Amino acid sequence: MAVILSEEQLMLRESAQTFLADQSPVTRMRELRDAFDEKGYTPEIWRQMADLGWLGILLDEDHGGSGMGVADLGVVLWECGRVLAPEPLLSTLLLGANAVRLSGNEPLQKDVLPAVAEGDRIVAFALEETGRFDPYGVATKVEGGAISGTKLHVLDAHVADQIVVVARTAGAVGDRDGLALYLVDASASGVTITRNNRVDGRNVAQVEFDGVEVGADRLLGNADLLDRVIDQATVGLAAEMLGTAEEAFERTLQYLKDREQFGEKIGTFQALRHRAAEMFSELEFARSIVRDALSAVDEGREDAAQCVSAAKAQASKAGRLIGAEAIQMHGGIGMTDEEEIGLFFKRLKAAELSLGDETYHQRRFATLQGY
Ligand SMILES: Cc1cc2nc3c(=O)[nH]c(=O)nc-3n(C[C@H](O)[C@H](O)[C@H](O)COP(=O)(O)OP(=O)(O)OC[C@H]3O[C@@H](n4cnc5c(N)ncnc54)[C@H](O)[C@@H]3O)c2cc1C
Repeated sequence: MAVILSEEQLMLRESAQTFLADQSPVTRMRELRDAFDEKGYTPEIWRQMADLGWLGILLDEDHGGSGMGVADLGVVLWECGRVLAPEPLLSTLLLGANAVRLSGNEPLQKDVLPAVAEGDRIVAFALEETGRFDPYGVATKVEGGAISGTKLHVLDAHVADQIVVVARTAGAVGDRDGLALYLVDASASGVTITRNNRVDGRNVAQVEFDGVEVGADRLLGNADLLDRVIDQATVGLAAEMLGTAEEAFERTLQYLKDREQFGEKIGTFQALRHRAAEMFSELEFARSIVRDALSAVDEGREDAAQCVSAAKAQASKAGRLIGAEAIQMHGGIGMTDEEEIGLFFKRLKAAELSLGDETYHQRRFATLQGY
């Protein structure tokens, strides 16, 4: 179990830290949010991420990538989480384009993946249909070669060139059997994308498919593919959440050391030290469990799905505790929008609820264990 970083990953982390410190302070995310920026991310930064090779980390060399693993991408996401970078990494690299990568559809792989690696294509992933994460709860149908249905919380849909749609060819809502993943052009006739505001300032949209024509050549796979994509995205999100939680924790620790009240640094009070120690413990546990899950996915270990659920459950738990305690310990100032700590709290909250919260993943873990 690789809970420590390899030499290659340490170099990747260092280069990510340098780039993000220079190009992507938290103020950038705030500015995009405040302006309700048309794109919601910075295309120039996306281009630079492509130049750094980040967008091709998961792709093999034939498709313009470097053939590294989810754990390597996790290192980058971790650092992006620390600065709240809003680029469409999760949506494109781990959801949309990853469905294409993991499919057996060679013509689509050739069309999509090199363009993704170059930073020329954004691919969203339309799965959810209710407020609660339920991957098989799909009512969207494919009938007579046309997709119809409404998807919610579709990350980065309004800037996507293409969208992978999870639809049903047979069975009832909740059935795993009968699911199919198709690649659709965002500009196709019958696709309507409505952008929403989300608490963390990220880009999500409601996407309606009204008789959108798809040929068999656009089919990527079935529920097996869906499960693989979701697992890889979930562990990637857990890695990003850890970066966010780590940064929130470190900022809070610094605040405890700086802020004076009653003539003393508030960090000298035992009541706050105990709470900080609990944050540290939960974070440390999450670090180990997420790194193990990243390796499990890359190694294709038999217990990979369980590890992913354990990782997301713990990242959600640690993120919730750290986010809430960070606000509380910053006192009144933590409640204000001017103070950056609240942005970390909001991101952690939204990420906690994305791709299954702590309860969802605890249940899934138990089911996979045979309980
Ligand atoms: C939206 C809002 C509404 C509010 N409404 C009210 C209200 O109705 N009535 C009211 O009285 N106040 C109210 N407040 C003020 C709130 O009670 C203060 O923000 C709080 O007391 C923290 O003070 P501070 O901001 O100066 O934090 P700091 O003094 O900087 O303290 C930082 C953190 O350390 C904690 N802390 C400090 N010393 C100790 C210690 N010895 N042991 C344990 N913890 C410690 C503090 O509680 C805080 O969490 C409100 C604040 C906000 C933002």
